[in-house]
Amino acid sequence: MSTSSPSSTEAQHPYHRVIILGSGPAGLTAALYAARADLAPLVLEGLQPGGQLTITTEVENFPGFPEGILGPELMDKMREQARRFGAQVKFQAAVEVDLSHRPFTIRTDEEAFRTDALIVSTGATAKLMGLPAERELMGYGVSACATCDGFFFRNKEVVVVGGGDSAMEEATFLTKFASKVTVIHRRRELRASKIMQDRAFANPKIAWVWDSVITDIVGSQQEGVTAVKLHNKRTGLDSEYPTQGVFYAIGHKPNTEIFKGMLDMNDVGYIKVADPTTKTSVPGVFACGDAMDPIYRQAITAAGTGCRAAIDAEHWLAELQD
Ligand code: NAP
Repeated sequence: MSTSSPSSTEAQHPYHRVIILGSGPAGLTAALYAARADLAPLVLEGLQPGGQLTITTEVENFPGFPEGILGPELMDKMREQARRFGAQVKFQAAVEVDLSHRPFTIRTDEEAFRTDALIVSTGATAKLMGLPAERELMGYGVSACATCDGFFFRNKEVVVVGGGDSAMEEATFLTKFASKVTVIHRRRELRASKIMQDRAFANPKIAWVWDSVITDIVGSQQEGVTAVKLHNKRTGLDSEYPTQGVFYAIGHKPNTEIFKGMLDMNDVGYIKVADPTTKTSVPGVFACGDAMDPIYRQAITAAGTGCRAAIDAEHWLAELQD
């Protein structure tokens, strides 16, 4: 990599020793550690300040909160803690990065910044099925966030697609509003953890459709969703299942588009790191949280990798000065 002097325009961009992209548990923990190392990090929060936990309900598995804590509240506390030690947090999202020479350049829609250490904690986003009707009906009965939209389905019947922890969590949450929640899963066995399965199985408002995939969503923006078309993979039969809402819980994809071709990634876009560190294929760029973790994807593991990224960045900056 070249460390040639930047052009005169680039040199005018504000410089920060560490810039952190994203503000979920990974980004804000990295900010806390970098701030406490006196690195005065800048956090560019991204399009969803606080990350995915801000669209979740109760977080019951983050240590230190025996009664559980609301996702948005946990994230507010993390942001406050990072700020207390000098992290600067801006509600801007990186749209373009130049990692070809140092200092790296990070552009948002509003301004550009330079940094010698970049921490990527851009997280992941809910996956959709890719059905033609889903774009038209998104917000009109189709959703990928029960916490955001569940309220609109009071006394209605809804379906949840997926068989993982998210599907169990969303289905259980939706029973607070909906009169009936049907989980539609493409296999006969759930992927979800035993405790989440047991909770969902014990809920009398949850029904189950096994071995089936949704092939289409019936409805219009005027009348909302009225049914889903199903294909049973075991019997080969097609059917229509009446419903007024469709909630996707089929996993996530990493938000790493802007780094394509610059950082080594796996085939679905998770950034590769030199385990056990958070070093990416570009020296000075570190990745943490869901952007690099296809396996654990928990708030606590994201926070752990955020801590590691800040320490890695600190060591990197110290080596640069030597
Ligand atoms: P996940 O574990 O990857 O599960 C995705 C589910 O959607 C799977 O059951 C999968 O089916 C199904 N699916 C994927 N693509 C599909 C498609 N195109 N059509 C139909 N079904 C499809 O994702 P997740 O549930 O979002 O969980 C991700 C991670 O977060 C996990 O590690 C989980 O433990 C964690 N999490 C934890 C909590 C909690 O502890 N409170 C809550 C939510 C999530 P197959 O099973 O057949 O692959």
